[in-house]
Amino acid sequence: MHHLAIIGSGPAGYYTAEAAAKAFGDDVRIDIIDRLPVPYGLIRFGVAPDHQSIKAVSRRYEKTALTDNVRFVGNVCIGQDIKVAELQEIYDAVILATGAPHDRKLDIPGSDLPGVIGSAAFVGWYNGHPEFAELDPVLSGRNVAIIGNGNVALDCARILAKSRSEFAGSDIVAHALDALTHHSVTKISILGRRGPHQIAMTPKELGELGELERACPRVDPADLPEEEADALLEPGMRKSVTHLRSFAAIPDAVRGSKPVEVDFDFFAMPVAIEGDGKVERLVVEKTALDKDLRSIGTGETYSMDCDMVISCIGYQTPPIEGVPYEHGRGRFANSDGRILPGLYCVGWARRGPSGTIGTNKPDGYLVTDHIREDIPVPTGKPGRAALDALAAERDLDIVTFRDWKNIEKAEELRARDGAPREKFVDVAAMIAAKG
Ligand code: NAP
Repeated sequence: MHHLAIIGSGPAGYYTAEAAAKAFGDDVRIDIIDRLPVPYGLIRFGVAPDHQSIKAVSRRYEKTALTDNVRFVGNVCIGQDIKVAELQEIYDAVILATGAPHDRKLDIPGSDLPGVIGSAAFVGWYNGHPEFAELDPVLSGRNVAIIGNGNVALDCARILAKSRSEFAGSDIVAHALDALTHHSVTKISILGRRGPHQIAMTPKELGELGELERACPRVDPADLPEEEADALLEPGMRKSVTHLRSFAAIPDAVRGSKPVEVDFDFFAMPVAIEGDGKVERLVVEKTALDKDLRSIGTGETYSMDCDMVISCIGYQTPPIEGVPYEHGRGRFANSDGRILPGLYCVGWARRGPSGTIGTNKPDGYLVTDHIREDIPVPTGKPGRAALDALAAERDLDIVTFRDWKNIEKAEELRARDGAPREKFVDVAAMIAAKG
C-alpha cells in the first residue's frame, strides 16, 4: 500500500489526490492535511465571494474527498503541530500543496504605515479567513489606492465599488458586507507600473467593472496605444484592452452620475507612502517602457491623496523548516515538482502564483507520475495509522470530512436571505459547529 500525505486542501491538493487515487487505485491511502478545520483553501478564501460559479469547482473536490482511499485531516498545522520530517518518516511521499498565501512585500518607504495592507489580508478579510477577520481596513476615507494590474487588483476594486444589493447571492461575510455598505470611498485608483498592453487582467473580470451600479471606470485615452497595435495582442488580451478602450470612451456626464470612480492610472510606479502616523499620500513616479517592455522611472513624480493602500503585487509561499526554498521566487526549490526524495510540491507552491484554478490540475498528474516512477513499490511505511497515533499523543483535535460537512451545514443554516452560506470566521466557532 502506498501512503501519501498532501499538505493543503486547496485546488492543487485536491487535483493531486484525484490524480493519485486514479493512478494507484486500491493500492493507495491519501491523507489531505490542512491547518484549518475547513477544506478548499483558495476556493473558500481567495476566489471572490461574488464569483460563486467559480467556487462551484469544490463539488468536484468533494467527489475526490468522498472516495474510500482519500481522507481529510483538518486543524493540523504542518511545520508547527507536526514537522515535515516527521511526515516523511510515516508516508511514502509527502506533497506540499500549501499555495502562496503571503503577500509579496511592497518594498517602498512608508509601506509599514497603518492603512497599508496587502491583498492577502484584504481578500482574507472579506472572505472570512480566520487570520484576517479582525483586519478593520480604513473605509472612512474617500481615496483608496490599489497597486498592481492583475486580477486580484480587480477583485479588490470591484468588492470596494459594489453596492450592498450587488452582493446578493454572494457569500461575502457579514462583517465585510456591513463595513462596505457604510464606507465613504468615492475614488479607487488602480495603479499599474506599465501600460494597458501589459496588464495581467482577464476580459471577464475587467468587463465586470463596467457594469457596476454605483461605480464607473475611468481610463485616460492618452494612456492607450494606437488602436492598430491591438491587432498584435493575443485574443484574450485584445478583449481586455477593448474593455479599457470602452472605459476611456465613457462620457463625463455618465461617469458623473455615479458616486464612485474606479480610475486606472497607467505608467504609475508608487515610490513612497507618506503620512503622519497613517497613510495620507502616495508618491508616484511616472514611468516609460524600455525595449524589453519593462517599466523605467522617468524621474517625474506626483502625489495623490490616499487613505488606504492595498498592495496587489503577487503572493509567495511561506517557507517550511527543513524544506529547500527559492527566496527570489517565493516558492519551494524544486525540479518539476520534485524537492527531495519522497518530497514533492504542486500548484502555486511549485510554480509561484500564476494561472487559473485549472492550471493546477496538470500539476497533480505530473507529480503523481513522478511518485509512480520514484516509488514504484511501497516502502512499508505505516501511513495514516502513525499519523493518528502522533495526533493522539499531541492531543490534536483533528477535523474529519464528516465534521466539515457538519460545519458546512451549520454555515448554510445561518446564511442571510439569498446567500449560500454565512461562514464562521474563527477556528473556535468552526470546531464548535463540527458536532
Ligand atoms: P499577477 O497577475 O501576477 O499581477 C501582479 C501585478 O502586480 C502585475 O500587474 C505586476 O506588474 C504588479 N507588480 C508586481 N510587483 C510590483 C511592484 N513592485 N510595484 C508595482 N506593481 C507591481 O498577480 P495577482 O493579481 O495577485 O493574481 C495571481 C493569480 O491569480 C493570477 O494568475 C491571476 O490571474 C489569478 N486570479 C484570477 C482571478 C480570476 O480569474 N477571477 C481572480 C484573482 C486572481 P508587472 O506586470 O509590471 O510585473
